[in-house]
Amino acid sequence: MNTNMTMTCKVCNEDTDCRIGYSNREIQPLSFACPHCGSLMRITLDISDAPESKFSFESCRPSDNQPRRMFDGSNPFVDLHLDFPVRFGEYVPGLTPFMYASQELHDDENPMMGVLKMQFHNERLNQLNYFHNKADEIKTIIRLYGGNNKQLFKKRVSDFLERDQGPSLKPQDLNATLYQFLSFVFLPFVNFGEVKDVVDGFSDLSVKLPKPALGRFVDAIVKAGFLANLQKDCLKIYPEIYHAEMALRPALFLDLKGDYEKAKTAARISTKDFQSYKDLYKDIVEVFGRQLILIAGINNIIKRGDFEDFKKVDGGALSSLEKFAAKTLSDKFKYLDDCFYNIDKDAVDAGVRNSIAHNNVHYDEVTQLIRYYPNGGGISQTAGETMYFLDFMRMILVLFREMHNLHHLIKILFYFEFLILEKDRQGRKE
Ligand SMILES: [Zn+2]
Repeated sequence: MNTNMTMTCKVCNEDTDCRIGYSNREIQPLSFACPHCGSLMRITLDISDAPESKFSFESCRPSDNQPRRMFDGSNPFVDLHLDFPVRFGEYVPGLTPFMYASQELHDDENPMMGVLKMQFHNERLNQLNYFHNKADEIKTIIRLYGGNNKQLFKKRVSDFLERDQGPSLKPQDLNATLYQFLSFVFLPFVNFGEVKDVVDGFSDLSVKLPKPALGRFVDAIVKAGFLANLQKDCLKIYPEIYHAEMALRPALFLDLKGDYEKAKTAARISTKDFQSYKDLYKDIVEVFGRQLILIAGINNIIKRGDFEDFKKVDGGALSSLEKFAAKTLSDKFKYLDDCFYNIDKDAVDAGVRNSIAHNNVHYDEVTQLIRYYPNGGGISQTAGETMYFLDFMRMILVLFREMHNLHHLIKILFYFEFLILEKDRQGRKE
């Protein structure tokens, strides 16, 4: 369903034609920058009493000149839809964001595939509709895992999943509960098949690697408190993903397009803007950078038998994992020789991360183009590089998936500590 409406900007008093496509989300906060003056206009669509639809407006109002049937092209035009990327450009009657998205998924040779993909997108959106209402509860449960009342943590998870988690408060059982909860709640954002492959791969490794070498590694990172702190930092990211849920919807759609390439499609997101999410990317990169320490340790064991035995780079090798930890993100990759774990290179853009961290980023609300300056923002500023807000949200999504995958590695290393190393220690005591 769609509604056509001409909006008047309260700042410049000029008119813009809007076609508002309906999502299934009860409350749909849509926004766009006025094409005349750049001010942010907000339209909230409330369908909680469907079939009735209620609109509320901020910084804009419905124009006195509403279209009779179709827009006549005298005003600039914007499409708005929470669930899909929307195009810039001319108003084409009937070619709604939903229709455009369906066309993009259509394959002449396999017409059924497009339909199935659209259904899949819809299912994920319905899951998001269900979970985002519970975002505060999800945050509370994740916080309880780190608190002192572990019994309460288990009880709340049991209630949430409607599946009894049993009475055991052993660390391995608490961990099992935590990961079951996260896998369930964050399913709409991840690629289930990929997570399963990754977890199987990590589990295999924990059995196949020489036990003394892996034992020394796990012992070192557990004793230093590193593994526990890293897990805590991962857990801080999860609730933020539900806060970003609306702007991630069009990015999820891009999963279904086989030929997605950054900056090839000038498409917009119809909600919030870049400023609300730039720190989230920076924060996930930060956590991911430290997760790479685990990858480096294991890679060293596989390649050279010891977690601190690094490959020589430019004639020198790092003497410890601590030295690796101090390296910048791009330098870290150099020391992961022929890595056993395949990192999605789309996920990390050190230039974007550095530009955000040093505040060398400009955002154009009207075009949704992010211009960033990886080499700093001097007086004689260079042209910098650009990316669309949609591509940026896609990067957050892909990076979150990497973080989630590597969070499973933390789980497996903890199991190794709880079930193998701890048992050995007790065996020695007896
Ligand atoms: Zn305006």
